[in-house]
Amino acid sequence: MSDSDPEVFAIIEREKKRQNENIELIASANFISRAMLEATGSLLTNKVAEGYPGHRYFSGCDNIDDLENLAIARAKKLFGAAHANVQPYSGSQANQAVYLCTLKPNDRILGMDLEHGGHLSHGAKFTMTGKHYSSSFYTVDPDTQFIDYEQILALAKSNRPKLIIAGGSSYSRSIDFKRFREIADEVGALLLADIAHIVGLVAAKLHQSPIPYAHFVTTSTQKTLRGPRSGIILLGEHSAQKFARRIDSAVFPGIQGAVHIHAIAAKAVMLGEALKPSFITYQRQILENAKLLANQLIQYGFRLVSGGTDNHLFIIDLRPQAITGKEAEERLAQIGITVNKNLIPYDSQSPQICSGIRLGTPAVTTRGFGSTEMHSIAAILDKMLNTKPTNHTIQEVREEVARLCRLHPLKVIL
Ligand SMILES: *Cc1c(COP(=O)(O)O)cnc(C)c1O
Repeated sequence: MSDSDPEVFAIIEREKKRQNENIELIASANFISRAMLEATGSLLTNKVAEGYPGHRYFSGCDNIDDLENLAIARAKKLFGAAHANVQPYSGSQANQAVYLCTLKPNDRILGMDLEHGGHLSHGAKFTMTGKHYSSSFYTVDPDTQFIDYEQILALAKSNRPKLIIAGGSSYSRSIDFKRFREIADEVGALLLADIAHIVGLVAAKLHQSPIPYAHFVTTSTQKTLRGPRSGIILLGEHSAQKFARRIDSAVFPGIQGAVHIHAIAAKAVMLGEALKPSFITYQRQILENAKLLANQLIQYGFRLVSGGTDNHLFIIDLRPQAITGKEAEERLAQIGITVNKNLIPYDSQSPQICSGIRLGTPAVTTRGFGSTEMHSIAAILDKMLNTKPTNHTIQEVREEVARLCRLHPLKVIL
């Protein structure tokens, strides 16, 4: 590429440098293995295939069928699922397929409010899901900032949704899928568990699995599962019989076209990695790092939404520091730490400004960061956010970030 397209090559080289020289604390980010990079960059991308293994609309699909069948078998094994669809292009597409499979336009859905930790694809007004379906939202408890299952039950009873969505993008506490199913049953609704964020923990059995409870389980694969930018849908034994065929035809031809077989190959590699014991060790370390970093920050006087974390992420409420999420994000970017501004429950700031930042440990844990580095990061955040840093502090802290990155270089730099 350096010869054929030096312009694109140069940008990728700059990105390579950025990834290696910054501390990545965005909770949805990760670094994939060389084997997965090889799969996504392979000649598989040349093959056109529509439909499912054994039932394709083009010939020459034998190898593609083998790959998709392997990915499906590994997905079912890893999650204890009865049915897996590995074709969704991303987590959002996986959700759309579930909606197409279960809902008619204007049907009612109940999901977690965006400001309280939910995801855009759960019915936010300005998205397709919000425009096509009649969405309502549950919130977290104003005092504890935990999910309030009684409130969800009350909303479900008054709104009578056809589909209830459990799961979010910035909720730092465990989710009780069993309780969600009880609520769904009580009002005759279907349950979708979107585990895009916690999927790695679920796979490692460090978080309750929704497979026995939810009618549909969707996930992204690029977050804690440490795979390519893609999606998967899983069904448990209890719902496979009724929904397996319907969900498959909702994915294709319902919302998608030809399979991205290079991504499916990468998902197969990802699932193979996740089936190894070392994956459980990795997920444990993510949790340990998150807990340690959260506790250190509390010691430095930071206020965390809900007071802490049970998973791989948490939100810092920056109102006591009197700075906005946007400002904090910019300050940290200056010194080589990447985070995202994030709304906090009942936020008075706009989504462009936000009162908080979200931090997660999946990417730094992949890099080999452990307790020493978590202590260093907490001290850096204290210096950068608890007071307005001087130029001297900024210089000093920037060097500390560079030192930590040099200590743990990214193993996969092609
Ligand atoms: C990230 C995320 C998604 C969307 O995933 P994409 O793969 O980016 O489409 C869906 N749901 C939740 C809860 C997420 O966090």
